[in-house]
Amino acid sequence: MIEIFKKDWCFMRELYCKKCGKKINTKLWMVPNSCVCGVNLDEWQKDSGRTTFRYLLCIFLLMLPLFLLIYLLRILLKNLIILYALILLISMIWLRQADGILIRIGIVKMKNIIVK
Ligand SMILES: [Zn+2]
Repeated sequence: MIEIFKKDWCFMRELYCKKCGKKINTKLWMVPNSCVCGVNLDEWQKDSGRTTFRYLLCIFLLMLPLFLLIYLLRILLKNLIILYALILLISMIWLRQADGILIRIGIVKMKNIIVK
């Protein structure tokens, strides 16, 4: 029972390079652009689901806390350009993490990544 749960727990899954088979080192759930062997990891498979409604909905749901944060900080954002830059940076990292999560769950399939 626990084994099944472990297998289905998306964050426990590891990503592997399709070419060299090495484990992909994800930092803070972010998937790097390329493997140590030089293979591009940011190409997605055709009909990988990255353009589907399901993907867009998942991205939207994962980004929702950030939208809320921006909404709450909107007055401060107008006055503080540094905070604006920080939010921009956070959203870029957040988006990549969301992408990494979706790859792990299997909603998005990448051309050179195997999920185990
Ligand atoms: Zn590789």
